[in-house]
Amino acid sequence: MREVRAKKFLGQHFLTDENIAKTIVDSLEIRSNVLEIGAGMGVLTKYLIPTTSNFKIVEIDSESVEYLHANFPQLKGKIIEGDFLKTSLTKIFNNEHFALIGNFPYNISNLILFKVFENKNLIDQVVGMFQKEVADRVVAKSGSKTYGILSVLLSAFYDMEYLITVPNTVFNPMPKVQSAVIRLKRNNVKDLGVKEEDFVRVVKTAFNQRRKMLRQSLKPLQMNLDNIDEKFKTLRPEQLSKDDFILLTQQIYN
Ligand code: SAH
Repeated sequence: MREVRAKKFLGQHFLTDENIAKTIVDSLEIRSNVLEIGAGMGVLTKYLIPTTSNFKIVEIDSESVEYLHANFPQLKGKIIEGDFLKTSLTKIFNNEHFALIGNFPYNISNLILFKVFENKNLIDQVVGMFQKEVADRVVAKSGSKTYGILSVLLSAFYDMEYLITVPNTVFNPMPKVQSAVIRLKRNNVKDLGVKEEDFVRVVKTAFNQRRKMLRQSLKPLQMNLDNIDEKFKTLRPEQLSKDDFILLTQQIYN
């Protein structure tokens, strides 16, 4: 069967290096319920099938789906043809927890990560390849220039590790930028002690004007900011840890 021709609008960059594919798959520590996003021609899939007990795929591209069925007959009934962003994640594994893996379509990286955040009580681990810039941003710690909304939100519920940098030369077609693989492991936090929607609103509002001090950038919340710590008022959002943001949320909304 002929190969899938890459479609740019679907963010298709096929990984051509088997060792990197194995490294990505080996990095996943959960081997029960596993969902791969965007299997393409199955470079990760072929290592996942024999090592996982309940493996499924969401793939939007019908040509890829056809290719996968033709080359991996074991996948019968395991491929959901559709958009990961529109797929309800509770049904795929009957409400059971699962792990997510993929060489993710770069055009929707941020949306995938926000969906992980929304489904954190179902998703125990994520091993994923992103463009390096996104990977750097996600694992960034406070104080760094790349620290942002996703770093704060995800670090409240996941321990995050930067695993490897992947050069652009091992993809077909070759992307312009480098890639990186990161791993997110669910921590044991169930409850932040503040309303999650308030926490999200505070983080997003603060980073919306990241050059400004919080006493200014938080005004759009239309809340009384008198009771927040003096020290917070003159800081910029990248100077706050996720614990600071939780405290700040408490001070604004309690
Ligand atoms: N895993 C393969 C392909 C990576 S390219 C490899 O490493 O070679 C990204 C893949 O994600 C493509 O197969 C593309 O069709 C798929 N994809 C793009 N947008 C998607 C979406 N919204 N939902 C599910 N899959 C998607």
